[in-house]
Amino acid sequence: MQAWKDYQNENKDRFLNELLDLLRIPSVSARSEHKADMLSCAEAVKARLLEAGADKAEIYETDGHPLVYGEKMVDPSKPTVLVYGHYDVQPPDPLELWKSGPFDPVIIDGKIFARGSCDDKGQFYMHVKALETMVKTNSMTTNIKFCIEGEEEVGSPNLGKFVASHKELLKADCILISDSAMISLDTPSIDIGVRGLSYIEVEVTGPNRFTQRCLWRRCS
Ligand SMILES: [Zn+2]
Repeated sequence: MQAWKDYQNENKDRFLNELLDLLRIPSVSARSEHKADMLSCAEAVKARLLEAGADKAEIYETDGHPLVYGEKMVDPSKPTVLVYGHYDVQPPDPLELWKSGPFDPVIIDGKIFARGSCDDKGQFYMHVKALETMVKTNSMTTNIKFCIEGEEEVGSPNLGKFVASHKELLKADCILISDSAMISLDTPSIDIGVRGLSYIEVEVTGPNRFTQRCLWRRCS
């Protein structure tokens, strides 16, 4: 444990700078003009996984944006953890509400402000650095796989197909996802189920103003 902490403290600045570099890539999956940025972000994720000590890391093409897979297998008889994350981000609009550029990260009061810093680049990068820490301190106790997709923010239209056709590759004893809710900033929370997303949009059309009398009449 102390070795982990020492390694993290010694490399803290580099870890942070690498994350900031990742945040500078405008990997907006919903906008076709960012197609090249999506690929360069996937390539950056692959490179960081290899640098962290993954045995292999590869970019898989899909019908949409590419997905990055990486793994560090230490012993097939040991359990395997599969880390899921996504490198794509939401469009940054409305731009006028940003105090700094969405892809120009700034740190204020110990918090990083940039699109994707807490959804989900910050979280999955934490796992990449955890892998590096364990590899460098020789303390891997499980096998680790990474599945970092590029289409979460557009509903993951190609993830199901990828999972169905790569069952052996993704085989794991548990899946670790850091892309969910926390009760509060000072209350670490573990979500034990994810059921997807559902929403409704209600569009109401009517006069732009009406009097109380008018309201009453409408009700009667
Ligand atoms: Zn997310």
